[in-house]
Amino acid sequence: MDKYAVLSDGKSFENPRFLRQTEKKLKRAQKKLSQQKRGSANYKKQVIKIRKLHEKVANQRRDTLHKWSYNLTKYYSVIAVENLNIRNMVKNKRLAKSISDAGWGMFRNMLSYKCERNGGLLIKVNPEFTTQDCSECGTRVKKSLSIRTHVCKSCGTILDRDYNASLNILRKGLEQLDQMLVMD
Ligand SMILES: [Zn+2]
Repeated sequence: MDKYAVLSDGKSFENPRFLRQTEKKLKRAQKKLSQQKRGSANYKKQVIKIRKLHEKVANQRRDTLHKWSYNLTKYYSVIAVENLNIRNMVKNKRLAKSISDAGWGMFRNMLSYKCERNGGLLIKVNPEFTTQDCSECGTRVKKSLSIRTHVCKSCGTILDRDYNASLNILRKGLEQLDQMLVMD
């Protein structure tokens, strides 16, 4: 579950160690603040420390997303992503933290302009059923968030949940690309 993104070429992006470490430091600092007396000199010092750590996490995350998006757009000219409605997802409290923290919108934005700059194309696909559908035979296999493996009883395919989804996103993206070409 530590993966930031799973790609259809079998690779995945994981948050780098330095970022995880800063996040841990931030968590610890916040815990410490909750134990300090509100308004005291130490409390104020701790608030400043937390603000700095927040900034550091944001910077490290941005740098990481820049690096990933640069590498992706360097090797691939057509990239398909889910057209996630971040605002709607943030309404869902369980998902809100991970999505807003992870800067998914920022990442998609970087991919978009870097693709364009290289003459490539970022295709946004409808996220409906990308997780549920079997990438091999199309059978819908319902699964809750906690189920991390896609197991298809119809065709016997067993895949990592996110990798299965990435293959569906790719297929949808290529279908959309075909339609664009027909229209031209
Ligand atoms: Zn199947």
